[in-house]
Amino acid sequence: MTRACRGSLPSNEVMSKDRDKRQLPSASQPPAANEAGVSAGLSGQLIVPAEMLARAGIWPGHEVVIEATSNGLRIAPDSLRKVHIEVTSHCNLDCLMCVRHSWQEPLGSMPLARFERFVDGLATETGPRAAVAFSGFGEPLVHPEWQEMMRLARRRGHPVELITNGLLLDAAAARTLVDVGVGQITVSVDGGDDEAYMRMRGVPAAGALAAVHHLLEARRYTRQRIAVGIAALATRSTVTSLPALLDWATDLRLDFVSIGNVVPHTEEMAAETLWERASWVSAFHQTSWRPQLRVGRFDMEDATLPLAAALAERGLTYPSPSLDEARWRNRCRFAHEGMCAVSWEGRVSPCLSLLHSHAEFINNQARRVHEHVAGHVDDRRLTEIWRDPAFRAFRERVRTFDFPACFHCGGCPLTETNREDCYNNPAPVCGECLWAQNIVLCP
Ligand code: SF4
Ligand code: SF4
Ligand code: SF4
Repeated sequence: MTRACRGSLPSNEVMSKDRDKRQLPSASQPPAANEAGVSAGLSGQLIVPAEMLARAGIWPGHEVVIEATSNGLRIAPDSLRKVHIEVTSHCNLDCLMCVRHSWQEPLGSMPLARFERFVDGLATETGPRAAVAFSGFGEPLVHPEWQEMMRLARRRGHPVELITNGLLLDAAAARTLVDVGVGQITVSVDGGDDEAYMRMRGVPAAGALAAVHHLLEARRYTRQRIAVGIAALATRSTVTSLPALLDWATDLRLDFVSIGNVVPHTEEMAAETLWERASWVSAFHQTSWRPQLRVGRFDMEDATLPLAAALAERGLTYPSPSLDEARWRNRCRFAHEGMCAVSWEGRVSPCLSLLHSHAEFINNQARRVHEHVAGHVDDRRLTEIWRDPAFRAFRERVRTFDFPACFHCGGCPLTETNREDCYNNPAPVCGECLWAQNIVLCP
């Protein structure tokens, strides 16, 4: 468990509020500087070179969080670094696993004026601008004004990213994305063959695959760095097709491939999940009926496949829980990496999962996840909402992840919603969140 405290940087000076004066050198001793130029302070202060802070995304005036971990101190910015903006919840597809099947709310699109208000509310005096990721639940390219919106964000200095199903991404759209200067584009390709893709998305894969080719062609004519990658969902009925998708992505030299799990919004999708063992193996390293497994890294090849199969028999998951566990369990990327989400209606939420109330089926239990709204971009600048004490306190709670291990425990009547848990945490509670267990990935 880590302890977190909060400071702000008037200069390049990092303050620790949790200092223990008994363990500090006396005031007459000079601070000790290491090779990187970081000084251990006399009264609980760290003096860090400004360029090192800038490399870590920390700028003068930024708030920072300081955590004491078993590996030393972790100092991170608490600045807003990326906003997932849902410019529309309409879509040109009706995918089997879509969260919108479990919604009870009207669909709609964000007016351009609201988008402009949202971007105005992101402006800061110092440091890099937050990235604007066109994502959410709906297809961003369905919005008739997506080009104006992206240009507007770029003009104000924000990096822009796009997550798309690709079906509207023809050669002209690809050229526009390159002209606008979109820095990262993720095309969702759920399956390595037509049958698998059809099963998930209801249409042939050709449109999504063509979108990737259009992007690669368009970026040949720019010197600007544009990352192009794909995101795929692994399900029981499509996972065997994914090696072919990896081959395809490797042949095309894509920048990244993200393979995540599906959030089961229906019982049908719950039967498709591939993470049943992941819920308990990482929780119970050692039991009286099974030795602790510690596995070094080894090549995956014909000779090692029997060992890999034997490990899989014993419930090991990938990545192995013996790897750096802190990265894979109880870690919410939204809270740790300065991200939030905004709906087409302008509601600001801590993450994509809490953007819309929806149904989930976890551990054989139906569950209602209620949305959590931290503010509205029509009422306040997003930077103000981000610094609101209640929102800050929520992020801190999520970073320390002081929630019961509901995901591993298996569920109880309290987990029928995300409103309460057996620690009496205030709503929303995150102990059964698939995103925080790295079961579901955020591109
Ligand atoms: S592309 Fe995304 S938003 Fe559209 S139906 Fe499929 S899962 Fe839902
Ligand atoms: S832990 Fe899950 S529900 Fe909680 S803020 Fe993070 S992504 Fe959202
Ligand atoms: S609230 Fe407590 S008892 Fe219920 S599932 Fe979570 S950890 Fe288990």
